Amino acid sequence: MPRPFNFSAGPATLPQEVLEQAAAEMLDWHGCGVSVMEMSHRGREFMSICAQAELDLRELLAVPANFRILFMQGGGLGQNAIVPMNLIGRSASRTADFVLTGSWSIKSHAEARRYGEAHIAAGSATGRQAQLPAPSSWRLSPNPSYVHLCSNETIDGIEFQELPDLRTLGCDAPLVIDCSSHIASRPIDWSRLGLAYAGAQKNIGPAGLTLVFVRDDLLDHALPICPAAFNYRTVADQGSMFNTPPTYAIYIAGLVFQWLKRQTESGLTCIAAIEARNRAKAQLLYDCIDGSTLYRNEVDPTCRSRMNIPFFLADESLTDAFLAQAREAGLLQLKGHKSVGGLRASLYNAMPLEGVQALVKHMQAFEATHG
Ligand SMILES: *Cc1c(COP(=O)(O)O)cnc(C)c1O
Repeated sequence: MPRPFNFSAGPATLPQEVLEQAAAEMLDWHGCGVSVMEMSHRGREFMSICAQAELDLRELLAVPANFRILFMQGGGLGQNAIVPMNLIGRSASRTADFVLTGSWSIKSHAEARRYGEAHIAAGSATGRQAQLPAPSSWRLSPNPSYVHLCSNETIDGIEFQELPDLRTLGCDAPLVIDCSSHIASRPIDWSRLGLAYAGAQKNIGPAGLTLVFVRDDLLDHALPICPAAFNYRTVADQGSMFNTPPTYAIYIAGLVFQWLKRQTESGLTCIAAIEARNRAKAQLLYDCIDGSTLYRNEVDPTCRSRMNIPFFLADESLTDAFLAQAREAGLLQLKGHKSVGGLRASLYNAMPLEGVQALVKHMQAFEATHG
């Protein structure tokens, strides 16, 4: 029996090879007699697993030497508080600027207000947007501590195809991105960034691990109230082992990084090969939606997400029937987010092209009988 295709937005599908390797190593990791879950995080075995995961991630995403990689906990929502606690004191204004493009950036803005001024530079805290505001239209504050955006809005299906260069806007504050739902799906332009964070459970591995990439010069601005376990300087100096890290999640993420590194194609770096595949998968589904009269996606084609594709049926009363038949065809978790309704397909790295082909086949068959 083949496994069904799982289109969940998160926690999300993982590569079958990774799950098989984890299963094979479950009781006895590399002959040491215990499972990774049972190891001391300070022992030689786990230290090597953790160091390798970090090295592989750094190589995969070409993370420059002046960025630290931190393995933290608390998820994307945790970082919505941890970022301001660490960075909002950077400038005397104690102001952070926010670009609001959907549900997740709105949440980031709301949380930051507990720690300082949170200025809306673009977008609005209400209403769905079909387009990203052009950086030239942003109203940045005079001296922000940082500028925050969500580079892929998981619920709304909107993605920045390019990160803004704040310097061209006359702003030398660091750019902070929540890239939870598209990290490792495409290259990252580190020259435009001060900090990036991502919960692991979308495109990296199990829930419980949060990745933080932080530029060296941003480690030392924490507010006095910042808990030690969430202070970037403390976590960086302790090699992400100030307190016990989510060891098993780090191990699985490490297996995913190794799997990603095997996805090379001739002449392309791993991440370019992964990006090309993600582009092709998304194109296939958008072409199906745009070519139909039954389905529609409401996001402007210039900023449609490659990872999370929300869509609606012209006759919404058919949604339950669509989902039931999809489930029978081995296509799981296609229900839209409760705040949006309709349908949503998440096409993370671990979703093979065959999964998207099967989805498109189901959509076309459903349209033929219900269109
Ligand atoms: C899922 C998600 C979050 C929330 O992550 P948690 O781990 O649940 O805190 C935050 N931001 C984005 C963009 C997400 O997709």
